[in-house]
Amino acid sequence: MRRELLFDCAPDWIRAAVVEDGVLCELHSEQVGSTKATESLFYGRIEQIRPSVGAAFVNIGLDRNGFLPLDELGDTPPKCGDMLIVQGAARQETEGKGLRLTARINLAGKGLVLVPGSSGAHVSKKVKDPQARAQLLEAAQALCPEGFGLIVRTASQDVTMALLEEEAQALLRQWKEAQRHAAGMTRPGVLMERLPLDRRLVRDMAGRELDRIVTNSVESAGAFAQMQRQGLIPETARIEHFAETEQLLFDAMCIETQIERALKKRVWLPCGGYLIIDRCEAMTVIDVNSGKMILGRSTEDTALRVNLEAAREVARLLRLRDVGGMVVVDFIDMALPEHREALVRALRDAAKADRAQVKVYGLTQLGLMELTRKRVHAELHRQLCAPCTYCSGTGEVLSPDEVARRALYAVRRKAISGQRGPYLVRLSPAAAQALSKRVCPPECAVYALAVPGRHAETFDIEPVDPAAGIPKGAVRLVERMEA
Ligand SMILES: [Zn+2]
Repeated sequence: MRRELLFDCAPDWIRAAVVEDGVLCELHSEQVGSTKATESLFYGRIEQIRPSVGAAFVNIGLDRNGFLPLDELGDTPPKCGDMLIVQGAARQETEGKGLRLTARINLAGKGLVLVPGSSGAHVSKKVKDPQARAQLLEAAQALCPEGFGLIVRTASQDVTMALLEEEAQALLRQWKEAQRHAAGMTRPGVLMERLPLDRRLVRDMAGRELDRIVTNSVESAGAFAQMQRQGLIPETARIEHFAETEQLLFDAMCIETQIERALKKRVWLPCGGYLIIDRCEAMTVIDVNSGKMILGRSTEDTALRVNLEAAREVARLLRLRDVGGMVVVDFIDMALPEHREALVRALRDAAKADRAQVKVYGLTQLGLMELTRKRVHAELHRQLCAPCTYCSGTGEVLSPDEVARRALYAVRRKAISGQRGPYLVRLSPAAAQALSKRVCPPECAVYALAVPGRHAETFDIEPVDPAAGIPKGAVRLVERMEA
C-alpha cells in the first residue's frame, strides 16, 4: 500500500489528509493555538471540590477551569488551593465546558509512553503477536526508569532499540523539565503544549508504511526534515513542499472533492452499487445496494462482488467520518455460508488499517452485520456540518398538502370561536397552491395568498374585508366540490 500524508496549513488552521493508494482515508483539522488542550501539561490549582459530581474544578490558567475526576486523586483528599500537575485528557466530548483533566500523566513519544507515578512495563494491546509482545516487553523492562511506568506502542516494532532508548531518555527529560518549570511557578499555567497536528500526526503515523509527506507550508516541511534527521520519520519517506502558485494542494490531490463525496448520504461503489448511510441517535445504519449492477444469472456471485467492495468502502468511510459506537450494515443477502464467512473476513481485514479499535461481530439472524468502533475525535459530520436551520435537522418538512390542511383547520378554529371571516391565509407558494385546491369550510370564506420565500411549514391567518379589497394574487377557495 502506498500511504501519503498531505498538509494544508493556513495561518489559523491546519488540515491533514491521510491518503492510501490515492484514496482519502482520514481527515483531521485543528485550530492553530488549540494545542493547549488534550495531552498538554498544566500546573493547576484546585479552586472548588464538588463531591456530588465527583470532580474538582482546577484553574489551569485558561479562560475556564478544568474538570478533574476526584477518584483519580487517590486516598489523600485534595484541598482547595492545592497545586498539582495535570494533563488534558485524551477524550474531549464536552464542547463549551472546561477541559477534562487527568492526574494520571501520560507522556507519549513515537514508540513509548512514559507514565510518571506508575510502575512497570507494558505492551500496547494492539500488538497481537505473542512473540513480538514478549520481545517488546523485555525491551520495555530494560528501559523503564525507576518510579515510572512505560508502555510500548505498536509503532515501536519498527524502531531500533537504540532509538527507543533515546526516546525513553527524552521523555524522562521532558517530565523533569516540566516538574522543574512547575516548581518555579506561583500561578497556574501551561507547562508543556502538545505538538501541533502536523507534527503529531507524522509522529503517530511514522511507525507505519509512509511513502510521502506533502505540505503547502515551508515551515512544516522544514520541521519534517528535522524530524527525519532525528530518525522520527523513516528515511524512505519523501518530504515535499508544494508551492501553491497555480493550484491549491488539496485541489491538486483531489482531496476537496473526496471530502464532499464522503459526507453524502449516498456513496457510490466502483462496481456501480452504492451505500446509503444513515446516522441515527443510537447507531449508524448502512444499507448496501446493487444499484446499476445487473443481478443476472449468477446472482450469488454478483452479490458477493458488490458486498466485498462495499465492505472495503464501509471500513474506509467509518475511518474517514470517524464514526463511533454501534454500526449495522445491511449487505445484499447471500445464501452460501462460505460467502458470508468471506464477507466477515473481508470486513475484518479492511478494518485493520483503522487506528481506532473496530470489532466486527459478524452477521445476525436477519443477516445484518454488526460492528462497533471506538471513536478518537469528534465525528467528521460534527466537525464540518451544523443541523439544517430550515428543517431543524430532521431532513424533512411538512408536505404542502399537510400545511394547507393545518391552515384550514386553524381557520375553522378561529371561525367557531366567534371571529367571523372571510380570512386571508399567507403561506409558501407550494402550500398556497395546495390550499387553493381545497374546498372552503362551511364556517367562512377563505383566500390563499402565496408569499415567495416564506418557510414551507408556517402560515398566518387574518380576517379581511372584501369591501376594503383583497390583496392582489389571493385565490378564493371554491364553495363546494365540483361535480
Ligand atoms: Zn433541512
